[in-house]
Amino acid sequence: MKLDEWLSQRLDKTKESGLYRRLRTMDTSSLPEMVADERQQIVFSSNNYLGLANDERLIYAAETILHEFGVGSSGSRLTTGHTKWHQKLEERIASFKQTEAALLFSSGYLANVGVLSSLPQKGDVIFSDQLNHASVIDGCRLSKADTVIYKHVDTDDLEEKLKEVACDRQCFIVTDGVFSMDGTIAPLDKIMSLAERYGAFVIIDDAHATGVLGENGRGTSEHFGVTPHITIGTLSKAVGTEGGFVSGSKVLTDFLLNHARTFIFQTSISPCICAASYAALEIIEQSKEQRQLLLSKVKQVKTGLEEMGYEVKGGGTPIIPVIIGDPYKAVDFAKRLQQEGIYAPAIRPPTVPIGESRIRLTVTTDHSSKEIDDLLTSFRLIGKELSIIV
Ligand SMILES: *Cc1c(COP(=O)(O)O)cnc(C)c1O
Repeated sequence: MKLDEWLSQRLDKTKESGLYRRLRTMDTSSLPEMVADERQQIVFSSNNYLGLANDERLIYAAETILHEFGVGSSGSRLTTGHTKWHQKLEERIASFKQTEAALLFSSGYLANVGVLSSLPQKGDVIFSDQLNHASVIDGCRLSKADTVIYKHVDTDDLEEKLKEVACDRQCFIVTDGVFSMDGTIAPLDKIMSLAERYGAFVIIDDAHATGVLGENGRGTSEHFGVTPHITIGTLSKAVGTEGGFVSGSKVLTDFLLNHARTFIFQTSISPCICAASYAALEIIEQSKEQRQLLLSKVKQVKTGLEEMGYEVKGGGTPIIPVIIGDPYKAVDFAKRLQQEGIYAPAIRPPTVPIGESRIRLTVTTDHSSKEIDDLLTSFRLIGKELSIIV
């Protein structure tokens, strides 16, 4: 059999199960409006929560350094890819997260994989929330430690499982701060008390919480007023740029610099991206009003949809999942939304459990009241058409 034939047969199965995916090409980048597939659409799926990805101040910061340092970093951090801008950004992240140190990775994905594959050793146990991000799951798979999955944000289940493990084994608890498909917030305060009781180390993946949760946008730790042992984050969401990081103690970052393979064997991000990220963190700390505005828009969308009779998940974060159930219906819904000029993707298994296909909305500070009204009007119309609401 030819390779393409063999692959096509497998792709046919993907199509049959309603799970086929394809790329969407955007012709413009001025979110939240975009032109894609020759149609003007309002985007309700971006992670650009505070509108920083196209903020003039970030563009200016990147541009200045771009001319000085060039486009690419041309090396890994341990060879020729470490500039003063990488160092400045790491110091800025550490002060933003209020930790002793921080270490930059090329993405949040690589930070998760790097930490989980290097810290826990054979014989150790990682307790991982059932709905953790794919990069956490892949990190656990690469680790030589055993992984135990506990029920989503269920600290009773976590405690049961911690009790079952022999106390001489080192335990780690890993959780998303804000869950990317459900919008729920991890009960980090309770997790920290359990960790103390059972001698476990806590790793939090704050990808969606950084810039959004806490008075100064420092994330889940600030939201609950606790200090996890290890924080992982990304610059690609509210920060508006790209790259990942780990923050914690100086010994932790020193260890990762020496042992995390995704740090050692990866070309570092561009210095101009570091400069833009630096500017973004300065802005985020001073964006209290923007965060309040964001949360008020979230509330408006969530209550609007609930009043119509939709099942809406989430914990008051900018991720608002609207449950549709059947994967085909979810895809139809997303298509109809596009005809109404709204882009929000259908999320289907295996990303979410079977029977929980959904439209995943995200709200940003850039969405106007009119755009939110249009969104709600379309949901009322399509929901009735597809008999999801009455
Ligand atoms: C987006 C995301 C990541 C990956 O971050 P990137 O910088 O895009 O690689 C990791 N964890 C969670 C929870 C995320 O939502």
